[in-house]
Amino acid sequence: MYGKHLARAGLILPRDAYSSSAVPSTPSKSAASKTAAPPSVSFVSLGCPKALVDSERIVTRLRAEGYELAREHKGADLVIVNTCGFLDSAQAESLEAIGQALAENGKVIVTGCMGAEPEKITSKFPNVLAVTGPQQYESVVEAVHRAAPPAHDPYVDLVPPQGIKLTPRHYAYLKISEGCNNRCTFCIIPRLRGDLVSRPAADVLREAERLVKAGVKELLVISQDTSAYGVDIKYAASRWQDREVRAKFLDLARELGTLGAWVRLHYVYPYPHVDDVIPLMADGIVLPYLDIPFQHASPDVLKRMKRPAAQEKTLSRIARWREMCPDLTLRSTFIVGFPGETDRDFEMLLDWLDEAALDRVGCFRYEPVDGAPANVLGSPVPKEVTEERWHRFMQKQQTISTRRLKRKVGTRQQVIVDEAGPSVAKGRSRGDAPEIDGAVYVASRRPLRVGEIATVKIERADEYDLHGTVVGF
Ligand code: SF4
Repeated sequence: MYGKHLARAGLILPRDAYSSSAVPSTPSKSAASKTAAPPSVSFVSLGCPKALVDSERIVTRLRAEGYELAREHKGADLVIVNTCGFLDSAQAESLEAIGQALAENGKVIVTGCMGAEPEKITSKFPNVLAVTGPQQYESVVEAVHRAAPPAHDPYVDLVPPQGIKLTPRHYAYLKISEGCNNRCTFCIIPRLRGDLVSRPAADVLREAERLVKAGVKELLVISQDTSAYGVDIKYAASRWQDREVRAKFLDLARELGTLGAWVRLHYVYPYPHVDDVIPLMADGIVLPYLDIPFQHASPDVLKRMKRPAAQEKTLSRIARWREMCPDLTLRSTFIVGFPGETDRDFEMLLDWLDEAALDRVGCFRYEPVDGAPANVLGSPVPKEVTEERWHRFMQKQQTISTRRLKRKVGTRQQVIVDEAGPSVAKGRSRGDAPEIDGAVYVASRRPLRVGEIATVKIERADEYDLHGTVVGF
C-alpha cells in the first residue's frame, strides 16, 4: 500500500508534531488570556513522494496556524485525504480512504491527484466538504479554515487575515500564477521558476476579497504572463461565493471587478483573447489600463526573441482597442540593442512607436543574462550603438507621451491619493500604476487622506505628470 495515515505511520513529522507541545509556549502569557482548544485535523496521505511533499506543506501550514494533528479520524474536527490517481488500484484505494473517513468522522476534505477530476469523487461521495487538485495548498487550507476556523491567539497570531503586505495599505499586488510557459530567448525566468502554475480562480478571488475588506482600494494583477492564466489547469472552474469561476483571464478579471476596488492588469501579452477584456474596461469593470510588454516591433527581432503572440497584428489591434475604449492607457516595455538588431530593425521600431502612440513606455538596453539563449543569436550590437539607439528611442517616446498626457488637460479624472499633503496631495489617475507611471498633483480645499479617491479637474500637464484640483468625491 502507498497510503499512510500520518499518525499511524509517523512518517512525515517528528513525534511531537502531533501534540500541542510542538507549539512553543509563550512564558508571559497569563492564564486569563488562554484561548479555546485548537481544532484538530486527521490526515491521510496516499501516493508518491510528490504527494507526500504536498502533504508536508499542508501539515506544516496547519501546524503553524495552531491546528493539532489527530491520531484518529474519530473525534477530530475534520479529515484531509490526499489522494493518488496514478493507477486504477490507487484510485480505488483513495476512494476507500475517503469512504472510511466519512464513516468515521463525516467532515472530509479531499486533495491530491484525484482532485484534478473532482467528479470521480463527488459522484460517489457528494457530501465531502471540498475537493482540490494537486499542489493546491492554499485551497486546502482555505477549506480547512471554513470547516474549522483556526483558534485565534493574540500572542501567536501576528499575521492579519489578509496576510502581510509590503505595499501601502491602499493597494496590493495580486499574484495569479507562478512560472511561465514561454521561452523568450533573453529571459531565464522559466528556468528559475519553472513552467506556468496558475492559482485556482477561487483562491485568487478570496485573497482579493480579504484585501479589499482590509482597506485595499486597488488590486494590481501580476504574473509572468497574465493572459496565459489558467492554461496549465485547463481553465478549471472553482467555487467562489455562489458560483463556479473558470481560471480564465477574462472570467477572473470580470469577477475581480465586482469587489469594488480598482483592478489593474499587468504583463498581458497580446494573444487574440485579450481583445475580449477591452469591453470590461470600457464598462468600468476593470481599469482602462493595459501593461503589455511588446519588447520590439521588427518581426525579425521578435522572432529571435521568441516573443509570445508576436505575430499578431498589434497596430491594427491597438487602434481597435482605442475605438472600443477611448480612455485606454497603454503601457509597454522595449529592448534596444538585442543581438543582431540592425539599423533597419531599429528604424522600424521608431516608426511603429509613432503609429502606436503608447502612453507610457520603458526601454532597456540589451544586457546578456548568463545562460540566456539570446546571447548567441546574432552579432552583438556595440555598446555605443545601443546607447545611441536608446537615447533616440527615449526622445521619440517622450514627445509621444507628453502629447498623450496633454490630451487629458481639461478632463475630469478619478485620482487615488498616495501621499497626503497640507494643500497638495500626490496621487494617480486610472491610467497610472504605482511606482512605474506618472503622478497627479492635486490641490484641494480640505486635506485628502491616503487611499481616498477624488474627482479631479486636470489643469496642466508636464512631461510625466498631471496637475489639477479636486471637484468632487
Ligand atoms: S513571457 Fe518571456 S520574458 Fe516573460 S517570463 Fe516568460 S519567458 Fe520570460
